[in-house]
Amino acid sequence: MAKILAIGIATLDIINTVEKYPAEDDEIRVVSQRKARGGNATNTLAVLSQLGHQCSWAGVLINEPDAKTIQQDLEQFKIDTQPCTILSEGKMPTSYINHSVATGSRTIVHHRDCPEFSFADFVKINHQQYDWIHFEGRNITETAQMLSWLKQHRPNIACSLEVEKSRPDIESLFQLPQLLMFSQHYATTVGYSSAPALLASLPNDLNATCTWGKQGAWALTNGDLIHHQACPPDKVIDTLGAGDTFNAALISALLQQKNLSQAVAQACQLAGKKCGQLGFTGLIN
Ligand code: ADP
Repeated sequence: MAKILAIGIATLDIINTVEKYPAEDDEIRVVSQRKARGGNATNTLAVLSQLGHQCSWAGVLINEPDAKTIQQDLEQFKIDTQPCTILSEGKMPTSYINHSVATGSRTIVHHRDCPEFSFADFVKINHQQYDWIHFEGRNITETAQMLSWLKQHRPNIACSLEVEKSRPDIESLFQLPQLLMFSQHYATTVGYSSAPALLASLPNDLNATCTWGKQGAWALTNGDLIHHQACPPDKVIDTLGAGDTFNAALISALLQQKNLSQAVAQACQLAGKKCGQLGFTGLIN
């Protein structure tokens, strides 16, 4: 078991399932509604915790009722929130999601009135206790400072960076962590039509993975390209958070001294299993 810290956001997702997406000015009823905690870093921790690791989240919590829903979910997964910054003003990031039964599309309206976790917050953490620190690729200027600080002051702690979305200057972070975790969304947004094409564009000394949905995942290590097939479940139920599950399994395998190829194979297995169930609860028996 390792001690793992993840830095990123937690959100409240309000998911309305509707027969079909409404036209402007329509008034319709939902088929069903559910609320869930979202946020990539906290999703990854929810899986790492089930894999037996001791997990902490560093992010911003606003002292308002929706934060309680988020905290209860994190507690259920035994995720420690002690490194968080707690503010009295603002609102937890909230995603209002219309999930259309007719098309399967998910239309998201996101509300944000919450500052990002800052470098000033970060330096107050007792980093020494952690074996691994995982970052969401956001808040680029401050994240660059955090990763640079770790490289200089805590070189023994392994760091990973999830690159899910293309953000201005995100490439400036690529040389800082030990492992980069790219998404298909990032690769296609920056103009690559495949995971190998993205990975081949990186400097040879980087360790990186890139997931590609049903096609599985690729990795770059010591200049070599590796591919593992996806492991489809009997029935695909919910692919939301498959990438976060993949990243969790990857970190866990690397902490157990597996090589990157073995780690990607395990990550594809667990991510496939996750696609066969709703949410993250009970993923590991
Ligand atoms: P994200 O959740 O970031 O969109 P992907 O869709 O690329 O990420 O999925 C991450 C990993 O989850 C893939 O590499 C694959 O191993 C697994 N996965 C995703 N969708 C499926 C699927 N339909 N069947 C089996 N495995 C899947």
